[in-house]
Amino acid sequence: MGLASCWGKLGIASRHMTGIGHTDLLRVALRVLMLGLNLALVAVVSSALARAADEGGAARPVGRELPTDPQTQALVADLVAAGRILADQGVLDGFGHVSVRDPHRAGVYLMSRSRAPALVKKEDILEHDLDSNPLDGTSRDLFLERFIHGQIYKARPDVMAVIHSHSPTVIPFSVTQVPLKPVAITAGFLYGGVPVFDVRDHGIDKALLISNNPLGAALAKGLGERPVVLIRGHGTAVVGPTVRRAVLRAIYTEVNARLQQQAMALGGPVTYLAADEAWEPSSLERQWEVLLRQAHQHGM
Ligand SMILES: [Zn+2]
Repeated sequence: MGLASCWGKLGIASRHMTGIGHTDLLRVALRVLMLGLNLALVAVVSSALARAADEGGAARPVGRELPTDPQTQALVADLVAAGRILADQGVLDGFGHVSVRDPHRAGVYLMSRSRAPALVKKEDILEHDLDSNPLDGTSRDLFLERFIHGQIYKARPDVMAVIHSHSPTVIPFSVTQVPLKPVAITAGFLYGGVPVFDVRDHGIDKALLISNNPLGAALAKGLGERPVVLIRGHGTAVVGPTVRRAVLRAIYTEVNARLQQQAMALGGPVTYLAADEAWEPSSLERQWEVLLRQAHQHGM
């Protein structure tokens, strides 16, 4: 209601009122104006809040802050970098996630809220228990398949980092009888077998998703003591003793799948790595540094 219109309506009303003076009329008009201003203010604030939410604004809703010790902060930095590197390398896209076990509490792991890995910031990182409940008890937007992480940490005390990807080139090896085997020096960790997990063996749940603890536990059992398990028609879970090791394994699982397909397409028998050729480099600093730089150069 505009100011003139407001005054006009009050004027009309005043002609039908008796015993109301002009001072009272002014007071009423002032109240109507103040009410209008308040409503406008509420609308502006609500709109700003909605815009912030749309833009993925405030990451941590309410609750706990992450520990500030240097070790945890370094792990969080690696977690954030891992998402960018894996997106840059085509292992993760809008889907997939990376986690790390808390170095001080074996029953806690750190992972972002549900967000594309390349966009994750340190403020997005949340603490989860091994049943994949958020420790702050209030967080929303959790990954639907977070149970992969909690159950693997529960089953494998040696594992400090887990990556779940929809790594595209491995999919054919999860839906055929052709086993994924190491053909390249960078994928020696695949020697010894890459198991395939099928949700159909454990009750189909929401279109192949590992969306509860029993399925997560079944997947962890399927992984066994290996570093990689394929999930039929879906992707992989890759584990490691550090975030960096798990990232390199996830990348070279994808690379090896591509090279193996190329070798098989050429025809004839393929010579795979032998036991004494299957190894992993002890230091990953060189690869990590260059992969992170490439990701940054590509705007990740
Ligand atoms: Zn998935």
